[in-house]
Amino acid sequence: MSKVFSVTGGTALRCKGWRQEGLLRLLENVLAVGENPSELIVYAALGKAARDWASHDRIVETLRTMEEDETLIVQSGKPIGLMKTHAAAPVVVMANCNMVGQWAKAENFYDWEKRGLICWGGLTAGDWQYIGSQGVIQGTYEIFMRIAERHFGGSLSGRFVLTAGLGGMGGAQPLAGRLAGAAILCVEIDEARIRKRLDIGFLDAVAPDLDAALAMIREAQAAGRALSVGLCANAADVYPEIVARGIVPDVVTDQTSAHDLLYGYIPAGYTLDQVRAMRGSDPQALMAASRGSIVRHVGAMLAMRRAGAVAFDNGNLIRTQAKEGGVADAFDIPIFTEAFLRPLFARAIGPFRWIALSNDPADIAAIDDFILERFPDNRIVTNWIGLARKHVPFEGLPARIAWLGHGERTELGLAVNRMVREGRLAGPVAFTRDHLDAGAMAHPNIMTERMRDGSDAIADWPLLNAMLNCSSQADLVAIHSGGGGYSGYMTSAGVTLVADGSEAADRRLRLTLDNDTALGVMRYADAGYEESFEEVEAKGLGYFDLRPARG
Ligand code: NAD
Repeated sequence: MSKVFSVTGGTALRCKGWRQEGLLRLLENVLAVGENPSELIVYAALGKAARDWASHDRIVETLRTMEEDETLIVQSGKPIGLMKTHAAAPVVVMANCNMVGQWAKAENFYDWEKRGLICWGGLTAGDWQYIGSQGVIQGTYEIFMRIAERHFGGSLSGRFVLTAGLGGMGGAQPLAGRLAGAAILCVEIDEARIRKRLDIGFLDAVAPDLDAALAMIREAQAAGRALSVGLCANAADVYPEIVARGIVPDVVTDQTSAHDLLYGYIPAGYTLDQVRAMRGSDPQALMAASRGSIVRHVGAMLAMRRAGAVAFDNGNLIRTQAKEGGVADAFDIPIFTEAFLRPLFARAIGPFRWIALSNDPADIAAIDDFILERFPDNRIVTNWIGLARKHVPFEGLPARIAWLGHGERTELGLAVNRMVREGRLAGPVAFTRDHLDAGAMAHPNIMTERMRDGSDAIADWPLLNAMLNCSSQADLVAIHSGGGGYSGYMTSAGVTLVADGSEAADRRLRLTLDNDTALGVMRYADAGYEESFEEVEAKGLGYFDLRPARG
């Protein structure tokens, strides 16, 4: 019998408290909005919500029956046991896909995964924080806007953006591009993914072939009209063809699952069915074909860059794969974090999220109103809330994302907890954030590339972050490392809190949200970023500045 994946709303508890109930609803939510829930896959090709269905079912049963003074231990998506702790301890702690350094390789991961020993949680899949494509939409929009400000006089109106990949995260690109005013062409090999993004309103139109797609883009550019167009084709064919025709997009990037040569990227010349079959029958040949296609794909991006396009890597390891395939200059393409977002991360301003556990969109609307009233001078946030209200449909439980920094997150968390307590919302609200946040991630080819002090690959920060968040009484804390093609490339930490209106939640929110962002500021201060020192001083953070005296 096939399973039905839906979310639960309302105020009826199935668990012994809202902390457990909130986490259970978030687990249901990541499957309801995930890419392939029948295989527990949420996004990024292999990012799973639990190791297998037996693990999933035991997690659900445990959340339903556990007491508040117990802590569930999850190891790579499998529940291991229930520990007696205390009411201020996390409800769930997780360690997902952490492999010992010299062993952290894709081939070991695939072998251990096949033997049922490990699974990859992505960033927000294994710890039940994923909220659908909108989770990255503001980040993608902010990147486009920084490009617009730096290169095109503040708007992408009349500009041609070329990208690929309309999966769980990449599916945010057409909407983010349209919101930034662009004519954006999104190449995607899987028709079903295109349909999904059309149905939810993230994508405006589909072109039958490249000629038609380019004509639609040209027309929108000429009219200065924002438009997103999907094209069902392989990016490793389309990008070189665009170069061959002498067409130069204004902006070029990519968000296929290039990080994984076996389960993510689809090489040119193969159908989806052929690729699925080859995963079992001839994985080496499939990986070689993926690598060959990525070499051509990135080669075309580099050619566009030389011809004047603004090119950037949107966090999918495509440059790394190309370099290993012999493209010596792949890293001429900058990474989005360093190129556009580092000044925000240096102040610990990053992708904060909240989710209405009641499943009532009115709760998100009330929180939007609060933010607009409380942070009128925060242009990034007020602009975003205005756009999101109008253009970003909810997927699964109603949720919102906004880039907020130290102090702002705490203020919002406490205000929402008060609104829950006073009955002004229909139910409790969960708070979380992306792992791609100031103090929470070491990822030398994405988040921490070219850190000012060279500390790119030092993974102490996310580990400290997770320990600090446990000490700060968060409800769920997770340490993740890369799996599949990301094996050995990253370590990160996730955190979730349930604002159930209680005074205990006030304490948990204050401690965790303050400490989480304070550590983020300190991580960047320690790497020598001026913005962080300003933040340390302005907000009175207790950072020990051990730099030799200057002057
Ligand atoms: P996904 O697996 O859900 O989707 C990837 C899509 O790419 C699929 O729809 C697939 O059909 C398509 N695709 C694969 N090869 C293709 C090709 N050659 N031509 C055209 N289409 C092709 O993955 P996702 O969740 O959308 O994530 C995409 C990538 O972005 C991953 O590498 C992920 O790790 C990365 N990511 C980056 C950020 C960020 O902050 N920038 C955030 C999340 C994910």
